[in-house]
Amino acid sequence: MCRFLAWTGQPRTLESLVLDPPFGLLRQSYAPRRQKYGTVNADGFGVGWYSPSRPEPARYRTSQPLWSDESFASIAGVIESGCVLAGVRSASVGMPVEVTATAPFTDGRWLFGHNGFVPDASVLRGLLPRGAVPESRVDSALLWAMVSAQLDAGRPAAAAVADIVTAVGEATPGRMNLFLTDGEQLVASAWGDTLWVRETTDGVLVASEPESENDADADADADNEADSTDWHELHDRTLLIVEQGRITTSALGGDPQEGAA
Ligand code: GLN
Repeated sequence: MCRFLAWTGQPRTLESLVLDPPFGLLRQSYAPRRQKYGTVNADGFGVGWYSPSRPEPARYRTSQPLWSDESFASIAGVIESGCVLAGVRSASVGMPVEVTATAPFTDGRWLFGHNGFVPDASVLRGLLPRGAVPESRVDSALLWAMVSAQLDAGRPAAAAVADIVTAVGEATPGRMNLFLTDGEQLVASAWGDTLWVRETTDGVLVASEPESENDADADADADNEADSTDWHELHDRTLLIVEQGRITTSALGGDPQEGAA
């Protein structure tokens, strides 16, 4: 399983979001604390971010581990953005390790990520829109092809994510924590995996797991109880929308299920 982080708010550097936090994505690439499936996230990483100069995001991705990329570390301190989606990847069993399988996926102004696994590839392929050509056979790329077809048809982002997660979820067991943003609105689903949100004075962080020292240990350590209020874990089968600093959540359809292996 992968680990994701999204930020929307005042501009922050990629370094401060991805590399600096004591239990942030860099640490999560080799020692995640809340990961239920997989142990390390060494099959690549990607970062997408928006700049005021154009509506389409910039995207950097590679199939190498985050910890080994000195070039990214060198530039991350001088890139600032008010909307970032980043992820470290642990390829699911049977999935290819290649750059085209690495999130974030992008098209036009959209960035997309998937934390989870839909094991039955034939069911997924059967749900692909006619004529869709996913850039990789990884399940995430197939899900992206489905979501982006809805966006192309004019469906709002939240509805597109909710529709695809529930349609695929009805057809086959799977874990689908999806992340979708256009730089203005951020949508995420909790469907089978961990998802946390933290409101700060200058923006909102959404993450697969908390990145700060005390928060993730809070429920195991009474001394840290005060910090635990910073991060909130979302219930399974929840849709999260963040827009202009406002957070809304709603239930996604169906009964909670055990995550697919
Ligand atoms: N199934 C996706 C992949 O193989 C996502 C993996 C994950 O969440 N670990 O890339």
